[in-house]
Amino acid sequence: MTSIPRPEKISLANLPTPLRPLDRLSEQLGGPRIWLKQDELTELALSGNKVRKLEYVLADAVQSGADTLLTCGGVQSNHCRATALAAARLGLDCHLILRGPMETDNDGNLLLDNLAGAEITVYDGSQFVPHFDQIRDHWLAHYKSQGQVPYFIPMGASNGVGLWGYITGSEELYEQTQTEGFTPEVIVCATGSGGTQAGLTLGWHLLNRHTRVQAYAVCDSASYFQQKVLTDVAHWQQRYSPLLGRSVAGNIATQLSVHTSEDYIGPGYARGYPALYESMTLAAELEGILLDPVYTGKAFHGMIEDIKLGNYQSVKNIVFVHTGGVYGLFPQRVHFNNRARVCTWPEE
Ligand SMILES: *Cc1c(COP(=O)(O)O)cnc(C)c1O
Repeated sequence: MTSIPRPEKISLANLPTPLRPLDRLSEQLGGPRIWLKQDELTELALSGNKVRKLEYVLADAVQSGADTLLTCGGVQSNHCRATALAAARLGLDCHLILRGPMETDNDGNLLLDNLAGAEITVYDGSQFVPHFDQIRDHWLAHYKSQGQVPYFIPMGASNGVGLWGYITGSEELYEQTQTEGFTPEVIVCATGSGGTQAGLTLGWHLLNRHTRVQAYAVCDSASYFQQKVLTDVAHWQQRYSPLLGRSVAGNIATQLSVHTSEDYIGPGYARGYPALYESMTLAAELEGILLDPVYTGKAFHGMIEDIKLGNYQSVKNIVFVHTGGVYGLFPQRVHFNNRARVCTWPEE
């Protein structure tokens, strides 16, 4: 395999992350052999998929002379937490523009954003959604007027630059599967801002192994992700065409097949349902895997439901990419039983 030329990155993650088979789960479901790509182990503070994208995006920020990172997401955004902690690690300032409503507890990712020293502004969804561009421009102008050099990172670091995270992540996974003696027919991931899906879809297309990247949406529709993935890929190809030279032929976006399931979103972004909580409990009990109710839980639940429905019947090996997110579990603790029994000794 010859890999394509790539830009500089700042090394932040512990790579490669492990790949391991989930044989008890595979046996219980009676479908394909399921493998876990453990991107929840990229790093503790920067855990999950976002750090792969940030390695490239932050290299671009530093090269452009930035001293202040601005980014956005939900109040419990994993991406914002990873950005805040990466900024601290690199000695940069960080401002998070969060979509409310504000939570009553300083918990999960929000707690970590605070610990990392980020500036945090929360706007209610009714203002954030329609006026985001003005809010962003306001803060960019604010920092410029202070003599700082701000750098804006889009939601989830999902753009042409961030795409490199999972192009290179695809190569890493491909090599591990070859060492294990198989080529997966299907790769599963959760999709939210689309960058992981786009990077994996492009990465496996470039590897030319006929592997299908199946994303499970946690918000928005399949047609939204179709658009988003192709837009990010087009941006990538345009931006890096001098670097890529002749290693990438034709208009890549037109050659991709984008596969998104919108069947397991439930009531909405970060909102769960009982069957989801059951699948998350199964993953923890059967294989010792911690999932979160916003992203990985929905993708995992979707994958096992689709296996039960026979949708992966001809598939021998399927890789579930664990994209992290465990801090998002704690603010949703009310959905899970506490089975601890308080005992006395001696027993009565
Ligand atoms: C952000 C996130 C995703 C989705 O990745 P995108 O690239 O934003 O689509 C999946 N899982 C976790 C845990 C995340 O934080």
